[in-house]
Amino acid sequence: MKIVLISPAIDAEKRTNKGLMMPQLSLYILEGLTPPEHDVTIVEEEIADIDLDMECDLIGISCMTANAPRAYELSDEFRKRGKKVVLGGVHPTILPDEAMMHADSVVIGEAEGVWDNVLKDLQNGGLKRTYHNPVPDLEKYVPKDFKKILRKRLFNLIPIMTSRGCPYNCDFCCVTNLFGKKIRHVPVENVVRDIRESGAKNFMFLDDNIIGHPRYAKELFRAIKPLNIKWVGQASISLLVNDDELIQLAADSGCKALFLGIETVSEDQMQTMRKAIKEIGNLERALKKIKKMGILIHASIVFGFDNDKKETFRETVKFLIKNKVSTVSFNVLTPYPGTKVYDDLKSCNRLTTDDWRYYDHNTVVFQPQNMTPYELQISKVKARKKFYSLGSVLKRLSGNMYSPLIYAATNYGHMKQVKVEARRVEQLKEKLF
Ligand code: SF4
Repeated sequence: MKIVLISPAIDAEKRTNKGLMMPQLSLYILEGLTPPEHDVTIVEEEIADIDLDMECDLIGISCMTANAPRAYELSDEFRKRGKKVVLGGVHPTILPDEAMMHADSVVIGEAEGVWDNVLKDLQNGGLKRTYHNPVPDLEKYVPKDFKKILRKRLFNLIPIMTSRGCPYNCDFCCVTNLFGKKIRHVPVENVVRDIRESGAKNFMFLDDNIIGHPRYAKELFRAIKPLNIKWVGQASISLLVNDDELIQLAADSGCKALFLGIETVSEDQMQTMRKAIKEIGNLERALKKIKKMGILIHASIVFGFDNDKKETFRETVKFLIKNKVSTVSFNVLTPYPGTKVYDDLKSCNRLTTDDWRYYDHNTVVFQPQNMTPYELQISKVKARKKFYSLGSVLKRLSGNMYSPLIYAATNYGHMKQVKVEARRVEQLKEKLF
């Protein structure tokens, strides 16, 4: 069979066309799970056009929430042309009934253990409406054609996933709903094999917390140290700073930057969250310790919690500059379906749109407690502008001298993006606020 696997853009009219930093790992896993007698083509719409009339036997579309409307649009068009379409990914897993209105079949959850059945059933003319393997085994090696990815020269980083599942079930996150409470690991030797066979040197671990299971993380870091790679990943601050050996091993194995989900620097808000660090002083000590190891810090901040007030933006930026954080993602609280935040805001009638395109971390889709939606939206842009102002970049440089080039390049990239974001907010004003 000829199979086409698609990752849709959020907005087909406004694609970047500049090349993605990282390919969609899920599509490459699906390709690896496909028996070799089938022919697979991968299309990432952000960088390639989609031909609705292409010849194929099956279209597989994987989507998150923000690109679900585009996934449905494509799916409807393909089906009008007589093609079979299977939808999967985060959003169809959380809302399978909605996805089923647009697809011949929906894969709920992970593809391991069901993709083969989808293909066999399709060939036998008995495609089922849904497929679901609640807890797939991650022990079996799934080959990924990373060499093909590198040949395309469109990507800077190769994505690697070493685990799925999270025990914490945070109010604003659907990872526990998606992958379960228990952390399941890919065997370390299979991660090493992926890295070796890719021939690449720069990687991103996609795990929500690369050190969630410290014993596994230490084994992994020891195993990848001789490979001489550079990597970035997401990690929980508390685990890192309470375990000196772990942070040393991470640095020795090539860790160049860590994405830390700080989310808030308001102590009132910290008290309400399932976080091990609940005081600013402890957070500052933790950041210092990570920087001492020569690891750049990329912080994730979320604005829009019920405790956030107008002064929160200023105080947050002040904290980030004072602590010489390398780079920051300023997000707004997004009530993704499948989370407690979504259920709570919906039940209080505080959602301001149900258009999934705007459920993207960046757009305010609810009524905040202490300000208007527009105030939240524009204050987030102003916070970003202040943090990436030339004065701030220069002030923070002294705390990032161990990687000055990466620091300068990433900050410059963000400085350019601030203008793009400000323009977007003005365009959204008419539609949403
Ligand atoms: S935010 Fe992080 S710690 Fe919380 S549930 Fe999601 S993945 Fe787990």
